[in-house]
Amino acid sequence: MKIAILGAGVSGLALAQFLVEAGVPRADLSLFEAAPVAGGLCGSKTVDGFTYDVAGGHILFSKDRPAMDWMKGQTGGEEAFVERRRETKIRFGDRWVHYPFENGLGDLPDQANFECLKGYVEAWHQRLAHGSKAPADFLSWVRWRFGEGIAEHFMNPYNEKIWKRPLQELTSDWVAGRVPDAPIDDVLRASIGIRTEGYVHQSIFYYPKKGGFQAITDALYHTLRDRVRLATPVQSLVRTKSGWNVDGESFDRVVSTVPLNLLPRIVEGMPQDVAEGLRGLAYNSITCILYALNRPVHPELSWVYLPHHEQGPANRVTYMSNYSPGNAPEGKTSLMCEVTSPGGEPYPDGRLEEEVLAGLVHAGLVRRDEVLFSDRASSRFAYIVYDATFAERKRRGIEWLEANGIEPLGRFGRYDYHNSDQCVIAARELAGRLAKEALGAS
Ligand SMILES: Cc1cc2nc3c(=O)[nH]c(=O)nc-3n(C[C@H](O)[C@H](O)[C@H](O)COP(=O)(O)OP(=O)(O)OC[C@H]3O[C@@H](n4cnc5c(N)ncnc54)[C@H](O)[C@@H]3O)c2cc1C
Repeated sequence: MKIAILGAGVSGLALAQFLVEAGVPRADLSLFEAAPVAGGLCGSKTVDGFTYDVAGGHILFSKDRPAMDWMKGQTGGEEAFVERRRETKIRFGDRWVHYPFENGLGDLPDQANFECLKGYVEAWHQRLAHGSKAPADFLSWVRWRFGEGIAEHFMNPYNEKIWKRPLQELTSDWVAGRVPDAPIDDVLRASIGIRTEGYVHQSIFYYPKKGGFQAITDALYHTLRDRVRLATPVQSLVRTKSGWNVDGESFDRVVSTVPLNLLPRIVEGMPQDVAEGLRGLAYNSITCILYALNRPVHPELSWVYLPHHEQGPANRVTYMSNYSPGNAPEGKTSLMCEVTSPGGEPYPDGRLEEEVLAGLVHAGLVRRDEVLFSDRASSRFAYIVYDATFAERKRRGIEWLEANGIEPLGRFGRYDYHNSDQCVIAARELAGRLAKEALGAS
């Protein structure tokens, strides 16, 4: 059974590797990758000895231990990784606030602490007393869940920076299951200065010693390189009696990790309404700016959130050189800043580096005279935007693809808000199914 895999990001590469491990002949697998390198959103870039991740700072962690161990194993095992404790903070004026925000209220100025606590308790009481259901739109959901104070001081300005659109246009679907409910006792404790932790499942993470996060996909690519065709964007999928022609070559099965929005251009015979639906799936792009610093050490931070306008356009700053000593030359450090832009619009222009730097200086994270140089990378598909039409567009598109023998897989291949470990888990499941079919058929 000949299988075409569209895209050699972590989803496509992991799928191929699991199929090989299951005994599917490697000669039956072909990966098509549009870019000249494999890795997709897991990519990293090295400039003058400074390494950064091109689609936002990436860390390896997972609730699924076997999946994480598999990723490490493919990349050279435990010794190829650095283990780190997550140290994340929110910059609030000249203060450092513990993350998640509701576990850090005691770090706020008194008035803000009071407003956030009052709102949190009111919202909690409101939910308890009236059993009110989670509102469908994100703006109302934030108030319902966190209350007025946290909405005004953190959640709304931070989310406006990321989503670049009025928050009432987003649904609350994407937060379901992503934002754990902090026990009220923890929030009360935090507000009077007793430390509470929050998200413990991410408290330890791993990062490749060398090569940035891309070391993981590089290792997979290395194992599969005879099956991967780089710089080969798939331009047409045409139905045959028993499968699909991929750019004129015949395959029994096709797995696509190509963003769903792009498929109507490629797939022949897609009904008009399904195609319109997929084209209209909203997304945001990301531009990452690396600042190489002539500074020997950083504070012990993993990343910092910048919620406020005066802190510049970046929403998050990653202390890249703290992830691994391999990310900067000896005696130097680096920061990487993330700025989103609405999908389909041009990336921010050349003024961005200065605007972001001015924000960092204002926030007290860096001095201008420490900056050696900056570098940037942009990724078109970075964040799925959950607007009101999202669920229906996605459902119809995926139903049609699956009914027609195309398996959608991956973060934008299925429009699932997945981290790389979840991509690997989904690839493992799909490989199980396909291998049964392939081995049964041979
Ligand atoms: C800001 C941000 C932060 C993140 N942080 C983390 C993190 O800390 N930890 C973590 O584990 N994950 C993180 N992720 C998620 C992680 O990057 C993704 O889950 C993962 O990389 C998605 O892999 P994929 O293979 O599904 O998609 P992609 O990486 O997008 O791969 C799809 C591939 O298809 C190719 N392609 C497109 N069109 C065609 C075509 N016509 N023909 C052939 N090929 C084509 C593309 O070039 C690309 O290589 C983060 C993502 C973002 C945006």
